[in-house]
Amino acid sequence: MSISKDDRIDLRPDDIPTKWYNIAADLPEPLPPPLNPVTNQPMRPEDLEAIFPKGAIAQEMSVERYIDIPEEVRDAYLMIGRPSPLQRARRLERYLKTPAKIYFKREDLSPAGSHKPNSAIPQAYLNMKEGVEHLTTETGAGQWGTALSLACAHFGLGCKVFMVRTSYEQKPFRRLVMETYGATVHSSPSDVTEYGRSINAKTPDHPGTLGIAITEAVEVCLHQKNTKYSLGSVLNHVMLHQTVIGQEVMMQLEQIDTVPDYMVACVGGGSNFAGFCFPMMGKKIQGKVETEFIATEPVSVPSLTKGELRYDYGDTGGMTPLLKMYTLGCDFVPSAIHAGGLRYHGMAPSVSKVAELGYMKTYAYEQNETFAAGVTFAQTEGIIPAPESCHAIKGAMDLALEAKKNNEEKVIVFNLSGHGLLDMAGYDRYLRNRL
Ligand SMILES: *Cc1c(COP(=O)(O)O)cnc(C)c1O
Repeated sequence: MSISKDDRIDLRPDDIPTKWYNIAADLPEPLPPPLNPVTNQPMRPEDLEAIFPKGAIAQEMSVERYIDIPEEVRDAYLMIGRPSPLQRARRLERYLKTPAKIYFKREDLSPAGSHKPNSAIPQAYLNMKEGVEHLTTETGAGQWGTALSLACAHFGLGCKVFMVRTSYEQKPFRRLVMETYGATVHSSPSDVTEYGRSINAKTPDHPGTLGIAITEAVEVCLHQKNTKYSLGSVLNHVMLHQTVIGQEVMMQLEQIDTVPDYMVACVGGGSNFAGFCFPMMGKKIQGKVETEFIATEPVSVPSLTKGELRYDYGDTGGMTPLLKMYTLGCDFVPSAIHAGGLRYHGMAPSVSKVAELGYMKTYAYEQNETFAAGVTFAQTEGIIPAPESCHAIKGAMDLALEAKKNNEEKVIVFNLSGHGLLDMAGYDRYLRNRL
């Protein structure tokens, strides 16, 4: 079998996008603003300055369609392996005996192992530009903490990470990666914050949640000099940064004259889905394409399929602004599934808005069936996917099997948000029937 030009579509270094795409410019109605939890009024930019740099706040509130990517950030994108390839999953297609064409975007190739550096880098950059010296953050599976540690090392900032306890215990190598990049890592709930201590006093064996870890990180940020806080998903500026993924995909598909029937990505807080889908969704809103967008989430953390659309806190301790989003409630404690990056009670306000407007669909999957899909992918395409990404693979495989049933040559593109080489404890339990 000879290699054809759509087996892998590579871009050149200078194809790294020069602008981020802001879907707010193309939505038929404005995104709901974050509310001040005390006054219930929309947050003013200056209200956010205690935790975020001005540059990020301006991006958060922007309705400009395109926002320039600074050259230092493009240079760092090059360092982490952008532009990433778009690859055809021919062996998976053959295994499924489907007439569908399946492509996947390789966000697993960054040194941090996921898409998360796409936002960690500009966030660290914007803080560095304003003279900030330290960042605090939370991490679930460890991917965001890893990405921010890498970005802080690159721009010379200190980094303190609160890592959800279950992950801290399941994934010791993740902590070591962050420490190698120079970060300090605490198991959350920790003993270094008042909030962490209060949880530990009530529930000493609490598994931790992203919501709790966020409260701890914000608490440290508010009490430590020259320190800001950084969030790895959910907020508009994070979605914005991730659009380098989708813009590259559009360039790559153009090179093979292809418009996808489906684009599929997993959702935790929504950033890889948004980054991957929003540029094409903008085209769909303008009536130029018919692509369908599909988010996949765990049955056990069903924020889009079972959540309520309302204002809620982004964290558990009630320190963040109120965000209008699909939410399971800010004190929801998700079960300790291995896809730690999907264990979040809410969904990005921008993803919630496009879901409300009917621009996307969501499928929910059981943990076992997602690992089964991940193992099939590893055995056919040779890549061990992150447990989060297994949800996207499962979604793409289901669509490919439907195309087989209907004998239709659909084009399915999914986002491989990360690799799973530091998540082998989850695979261990799956392979031994202990999930
Ligand atoms: C963090 C993470 C996710 C989920 O976060 P989103 O903001 O929804 O993208 C998905 N996949 C991987 C590999 C992750 O690290």
